Amino acid sequence: ERVDMPKLMTSIFDDAQAYNRDYCHLIDLHIDSQLDVYGSYSYLNSALLNLVINAIKYTPKGGIVRITWQEVKDGCLFSVQDNGIGVAPEHLERLTERFYRVDSGRSRSTGGTGLGLAIVKHVLYQHGAKLKVESEEDKGSTFSVFFPARCIYREKTEKKQKEEAQQVIEASDTEKPLL
Ligand code: ATP
Ligand code: MG
Repeated sequence: ERVDMPKLMTSIFDDAQAYNRDYCHLIDLHIDSQLDVYGSYSYLNSALLNLVINAIKYTPKGGIVRITWQEVKDGCLFSVQDNGIGVAPEHLERLTERFYRVDSGRSRSTGGTGLGLAIVKHVLYQHGAKLKVESEEDKGSTFSVFFPARCIYREKTEKKQKEEAQQVIEASDTEKPLL
């Protein structure tokens, strides 16, 4: 099925805002690409939302969580960046193992089974996408999901064509006359 990524991003953002209530982070949404992907809307929704919930959970109150959908070389990239507790290098490799949780006081204090990332990795694998983690302890983490070109829908729907044409008209309306 065709997964409307801008719509999915907005839905993830809304769910993240609801979850964020107790954390008071600033959640920043960037939809820089209108491209869609092939896959299952509901599975992708839970996988990507999982990454966002982790970013919220493992960031001390009042942090910043940035969610992005953008076009990159040879594909598209979903990413969630936080300025939270981060992950020490010795734990990074094992993060997506089932039941693996970093054994620090701070991550223990939040509930969790350690299954989230194992499931995320599996769902992304099924979609032909790849999970990458960059993290520095006490600085924060970036979880990014790369969708290679073959996972991307190139032709636009009629609806998107109309929306983009509309944006062009609006943009030219605000331009100053040349003379
Ligand atoms: P569950 O998702 O099943 O409720 P969980 O969040 O502990 O539990 P995972 O989502 O698999 O499990 O994450 C595994 C571990 O990776 C976490 O326990 C945490 O230590 C670490 N982790 C995941 N995301 C982040 C993040 N954004 N910042 C810091 N640590 C993280
Ligand atoms: Mg989790």
